[in-house]
Amino acid sequence: MKGVIAGLEMREPSSLDEALSAMRNDPSLVPLAGCTDLYVALNFGTLESTRFLNLWSIDELRVIEKSNDALSIGALTTYKSIIQSKLVRKRLPMLISAAREIGGAQIHNRGTLGGNIANGSPAGDTLPVLAAADATVVMRSADAERRVPLTQFYTGYRKSVLRADELIVAVEIPSFSGKQWFRKVGTRAAQAISKVVMAAVRSPRPRIALGSVAPTVIRLPMTEGALEEGAPIQEAQRILMDEISPIDDMRSTEEYRRRVASNLLGRFWAETE
Ligand SMILES: Cc1cc2nc3c(=O)[nH]c(=O)nc-3n(C[C@H](O)[C@H](O)[C@H](O)COP(=O)(O)OP(=O)(O)OC[C@H]3O[C@@H](n4cnc5c(N)ncnc54)[C@H](O)[C@@H]3O)c2cc1C
Repeated sequence: MKGVIAGLEMREPSSLDEALSAMRNDPSLVPLAGCTDLYVALNFGTLESTRFLNLWSIDELRVIEKSNDALSIGALTTYKSIIQSKLVRKRLPMLISAAREIGGAQIHNRGTLGGNIANGSPAGDTLPVLAAADATVVMRSADAERRVPLTQFYTGYRKSVLRADELIVAVEIPSFSGKQWFRKVGTRAAQAISKVVMAAVRSPRPRIALGSVAPTVIRLPMTEGALEEGAPIQEAQRILMDEISPIDDMRSTEEYRRRVASNLLGRFWAETE
């Protein structure tokens, strides 16, 4: 019987340098991390690629460390490692809240932060956290390294500035203060993709990011500005309506998403007083 993986090729680099030179020499190679998104696409028959580069054994992409004063999380870090990391718990507890609600145990063991970013779904649960935390995506090719703020990484629905010869190697999160808040609204608590997801920080100028309400994850600069200037929450909730553009799809409706986004903003404000 012919299975979905028949006819596929896989390269197994043993170092980051080896992976990057393979990508420079063959731009058709598709990087593969935990494979939790790729395998779904393969099963659905929507994956056109046949040549893959397995990153799984590149341990240098699994490091969680303090780099200068920023928190640096390697792209291959799994949700399980994020949940277990004392450094992430101390610096970015809202990422742990997000990781806990992503899939189940199997996804925690295989799904990676870099895969969630590169996959670029507007419902990706780590993305509002990274956007609210002013994270920077670190990308490397065989020739150069570059850094792009997560809020400028996406150029449209599932489109990003990442080039075919580049890998995401890490994300860097600068140090910041303020109460962190995360909430995912889905059909049920686990194994459900978000209908709306919000991450926020209660700092003098609040930082608020939403997923599943626009083609990409978004920050809410007008809402943030209004709250900074002391506007009542009801006014901020009205402003929020102009900053989001949710759609009807198989998971939810525009109207429901608008109502939930507004309620989440209210909850964030009340719970972080
Ligand atoms: C049952 C199930 C439940 C899920 N639940 C959730 C959920 O609740 N919330 C959520 O956000 N997601 C969920 N997902 C989606 C998925 O698990 C995550 O997006 C995960 O983080 C993807 O990581 P991965 O390592 O498995 O990526 P892969 O499948 O290996 O790769 C995904 C994409 O990223 C690219 N890529 C991977 N790593 C890199 C890199 N370092 N540099 C450049 N490109 C790279 C690949 O080429 C591919 O295009 C779920 C998936 C399944 C199957």
